[in-house]
Amino acid sequence: MTIDEDLNGLILFWHWGPIVSLIVTATVTFTTWQWWPSTEGSLISNAYFAFYMLTTLLSLYNFVRSVLVGPGLLPRGWQPEYPREAKFLQYCKKCEGYKAPRTHHCRRCDRCVMKMDHHCPWINRCVGWSNQPYFILFLFYYLLSNLHACGVLCYAGLRFFIESNKMARRYHGGNLDLYLRHHFTSIFMGIMSFGLTIGIVLCMLKLLIIQIGSLLKNMTDVEAWIVAKANARHYQKKLKPFVFPYNLGWYANLGQVFNVAELHRSHGIDFPVVKGCNQFTLTMEQLAQKADKRNRTLTYICVHPSTGSWLPIWSQGLIVAFNTPLTDNPRIKLEKNDLIKVTRKQKHWLFGERVVGDDQRKGAIRGWFPRRCAVEITDGGDPKDMASSKAKPKDKSRASKQTKSNKIN
Ligand SMILES: [Zn+2]
Ligand SMILES: [Zn+2]
Repeated sequence: MTIDEDLNGLILFWHWGPIVSLIVTATVTFTTWQWWPSTEGSLISNAYFAFYMLTTLLSLYNFVRSVLVGPGLLPRGWQPEYPREAKFLQYCKKCEGYKAPRTHHCRRCDRCVMKMDHHCPWINRCVGWSNQPYFILFLFYYLLSNLHACGVLCYAGLRFFIESNKMARRYHGGNLDLYLRHHFTSIFMGIMSFGLTIGIVLCMLKLLIIQIGSLLKNMTDVEAWIVAKANARHYQKKLKPFVFPYNLGWYANLGQVFNVAELHRSHGIDFPVVKGCNQFTLTMEQLAQKADKRNRTLTYICVHPSTGSWLPIWSQGLIVAFNTPLTDNPRIKLEKNDLIKVTRKQKHWLFGERVVGDDQRKGAIRGWFPRRCAVEITDGGDPKDMASSKAKPKDKSRASKQTKSNKIN
């Protein structure tokens, strides 16, 4: 495994995700060290502190490795070894190459990522074929480290409270050292760090459970979604049940991720498959799902301009704004008579891709827009889902012609 040559490693840390992660880790570690119960050189206390620091350092090491090693990027313009295999693969327009099996294009990394699991903003990279083992180890050690910090801060806080009470009772003859050492900032930092550790423990636990599930089934987050759609498609079309090709049994699946020799053998492009499947079982299913989606695509024409705003309160009203889809997909700006190929519908919003003409408009062409801004057009060019009878498109022939050409494309 090598650091990706086309990305400067250190620049990857210059992003809110890694910066916040490192600041939070430094704050919690420093505060836990400050609040560590002082048992004056006791061997057990020192050994326990050394163990805490070891888990923290191991989590940091795996965090840094997850960022620097990266998920494994498919080279731009990638082609399969044998040209005849290209028909079983999807093509990535952005990277101008084919997508290898288990590869997906990440919008944020703007690259095709091998065995892509998900894009993690905290490491500012995708989790994929080559950094998944580091990522899982990071989650494990970070969970362990924060569990310790949480326990220690809780214990030290309670002890401080009890001791302070005792001191207050015999105020005049008592030792005020505790009050001086644990002044306001220290208490504030202790409470804040305790809150942070609880939040981190819950998040890490959830992420780790998801990752272990994915590890044991050898199925990434993206693949789980494809398999769910495959099961539904095969059931509806009365086809043989879909067999996920990469689930070799939990032991072999673990080896796929943690056995470095195995990783080098597969190079992130071809993976061992179960009997009855081949390298293209999943990619052919993806192509079939895409074809189905194309057939389901509806063409809409814009009848009211859309601003591309996330909360279009002024232009669309409160109901549309408050029902904005809870996803980070872009919102698209539309002008009257724009054509849009719609693939998803919600009550107040539609998701689709604007048909790009000669105009050189800036901004996203694929995303959500308010449903009342457009009407569906049938082959004859008649608006079906009229939002307003006054808003009939003037240029029906253009819409109709473009609709037909879209379907051919
Ligand atoms: Zn790509
Ligand atoms: Zn990514």
